[in-house]
Amino acid sequence: MRLLVTGGAGFIGSHYVRHALSTTSDRVTVLDALTYAGSLDNLGPVLQSDRLQFVKGDILDRDLVNSLVQAHDAVVHFAAESHVDRSFLDSGHFLTVNVLGTQLLLDAARRHRVAKFVHVSTDEVYGSLPAGAAAEDAPLRPTVPYAASKAASDLVALSAYATHRTPVCVTRSSNNYGPHQHPEKVIPRFATRLLKGERVGLHGRGQHIRNWVHVSDNVAGIDLVLRHGTPGEVYNLGGGTDLTGRQLTDHILRACGAGWDRVDYIPDRPSNDLRYAMTWGKAARLGYAPRRAFEDGLAETIDWYRVNAHRWAPLKPPAEPAVAGALTHRPPAST
Ligand code: NAD
Repeated sequence: MRLLVTGGAGFIGSHYVRHALSTTSDRVTVLDALTYAGSLDNLGPVLQSDRLQFVKGDILDRDLVNSLVQAHDAVVHFAAESHVDRSFLDSGHFLTVNVLGTQLLLDAARRHRVAKFVHVSTDEVYGSLPAGAAAEDAPLRPTVPYAASKAASDLVALSAYATHRTPVCVTRSSNNYGPHQHPEKVIPRFATRLLKGERVGLHGRGQHIRNWVHVSDNVAGIDLVLRHGTPGEVYNLGGGTDLTGRQLTDHILRACGAGWDRVDYIPDRPSNDLRYAMTWGKAARLGYAPRRAFEDGLAETIDWYRVNAHRWAPLKPPAEPAVAGALTHRPPAST
């Protein structure tokens, strides 16, 4: 199969490209604009593969997208603006890239009759759940611009199936972790700061609950959906570990050999969902299971940042994310 992978130089996309090249005989073309979030280093040695072609370009470039989609059998669509804090500052850009970019790809997929289009999305579209867990037909209640742009793009993708029978599947995964993630995201941000002897800032009281999936499990699930998913369907891809911010911080501190004296409590995000939770029975029926144990996966991830300081040091974000309109600092209820 000839696969077009958008955003394949980013965190999850690059893991997916390595997975596809190592487990199949497919030919892969990566389309990536190499924004601040993308890097050819993420692809590393597989860039030399004669089954991989890299094209630097924008998913908003209609002619480029059209010519690339025409030459491929399937599309796996990762390219997006992906950082919640940045979406508070420039939500219009998030809508343009995440929604209109997806629409342009879908138009080309319909025109050239691709065999499958996998649109990669997130559990954040379901919003905060006080209890229970969201199945794929749960209402979409995004509360931040990033999640709203992903929810909109999911609906655009599903409407392409409903209207034109474009063979779209949507995957929604929980928070991914693993090597090669940009240090603006919480696990690498904390790890890189702690490894340098710096302090870290925990949002609010560290009470927010997130589900964590190792990136290798997510990309294996995405590949199952590509090959066996039913067009028009959504597949949740969750992980086996639910943690509050405080529990996550505790894991990272221990893995980095640091203590709670290195943690500051910083103002919460303007909107910060209390709890995400999903079921993933549909993907399980395709053979999906989150296999990587969290503590092992986290230890390996932090080792990767330890030995690859040359990779992440130039990418290091500002001291703490700048969040427009952040709430006033509230100290923790207890530590
Ligand atoms: P990332 O920010 O690491 O990578 C995004 C990639 O897309 C980068 O390589 C960037 O250069 C590229 N890109 C951005 N705008 C582009 C454009 N206009 N044209 C072409 N390329 C462009 O993101 P990630 O964490 O790897 O996430 C990948 C996908 O998975 C996204 O769609 C995201 O919404 C989704 N997702 C991420 C997570 C997570 O925990 N990271 C969880 C669920 C879903």
